[in-house]
Amino acid sequence: MKSLVLWLITALLMTASSFSQSSETKLFALKCGKLIDGKSDKVYENVAILINGNEIKDVGTNIPIPAGVDVIDLSNATVLPGLIDSHTHLLLHGGSYDDQLFKESLPFRAILGTVAAKKTLEAGFTTVRDVETEGAMYNDVALRDAINQGHIPGPRIQASTRALSITGGYAPYGYSPDVDVPYGVQVADGIDGVRKAVREQIHFGADWIKIYADSRYRHRMADSLVGSVTFNDEEMKAIVEEAEKVGVHVCAHAYTSEAAQRAIRAGVRSIEHGLYLDDETFRLMRQKGAYWVPTLIAYYAWSQDTTNSPAVKKMVEYTVQRHKETFKRALKSGATIAFGTDMYNPHGDGTKEFALMVEYGMTPMKAIQSATKVAAELLEWQENIGTIEPGKLADVIAVQGDPLKDITVLEHVKFVMKDGKVYKNELSH
Ligand SMILES: [Zn+2]
Repeated sequence: MKSLVLWLITALLMTASSFSQSSETKLFALKCGKLIDGKSDKVYENVAILINGNEIKDVGTNIPIPAGVDVIDLSNATVLPGLIDSHTHLLLHGGSYDDQLFKESLPFRAILGTVAAKKTLEAGFTTVRDVETEGAMYNDVALRDAINQGHIPGPRIQASTRALSITGGYAPYGYSPDVDVPYGVQVADGIDGVRKAVREQIHFGADWIKIYADSRYRHRMADSLVGSVTFNDEEMKAIVEEAEKVGVHVCAHAYTSEAAQRAIRAGVRSIEHGLYLDDETFRLMRQKGAYWVPTLIAYYAWSQDTTNSPAVKKMVEYTVQRHKETFKRALKSGATIAFGTDMYNPHGDGTKEFALMVEYGMTPMKAIQSATKVAAELLEWQENIGTIEPGKLADVIAVQGDPLKDITVLEHVKFVMKDGKVYKNELSH
């Protein structure tokens, strides 16, 4: 009996935690020229942040800094909470999708994933929700755990593993029915099928379940990207019920209002992309407490790709225009918008999302909060991250200039600290 208890305790301890009590209790301070704390709409000047190990102890203009304590001088910079990207694919890159599935081994993809993780952290994202590996199986769980155990640099990760869609609902397409091809998602059909798939993903480490409520690959129209509904209502409800039994939330890719509304009614926590969501869908989201993760930059960057054929160019430009109209509608409706980019081509460019949010009418402060406080709430890590205040983990970034005057300064993050450890410092030595 005793050995069983010991085994259980060991097994629990071995489960890599995203939050660790730092073994060091070294006290140090950050001197900040300006501070945007993620919580308040105010900008504070000449603030000091006192950090003990990996935890923020105190923040303020008049806090006593004990003699002999190391001070990192950021007095020429604006300091903010570490950013959170709620929609990444660290295991995917911008090259041929089919080659990634057919020619790149899982270890090769994991190795590229470590590079993507480092770039993402250095861009200022101290936390991400990675919403599926696109055929790289459970590599996101391995990446998450290797980062948490301190083997490699990278953001904290909430992993969604493989994502779910229906037979015929996801890439790759066009191969002979006589050939077995790997899929970019886990294909599951019917109530029993989806329940088993959810249980499997959670068993292998999923923090989230990602589903395709609609799929753009099923047909394309000339003028814009179109999504066709995938799972029926009963399947979606079964997915959410199975996940929520163990406290795991579900996020849904949905372009159309129909797919989004079905997913929200089934109980998903966030809608990804939502290119064409209407007022009724945003009203339903508010009513059910669901979040919208718009991922503007992914489609915008695609529209700027000079290798697009004329037909693709037309389709994506029209899509971007409608996405923009949807974003403006969301602002008017008071939808809860959590920052997410879907930016893997290239990794590290996710901060370009801010400029689009502001161009489309969001205030710079609200855009920053969507990537800090609001995203932390979506991830249910608001007790630990998302704002700079006593008791939170020391996830801190800094930029030169004033992001409230020029939001694009966030595209050049100069200082990154995660968990009290400095990963990048181009400001003081
Ligand atoms: Zn995505």
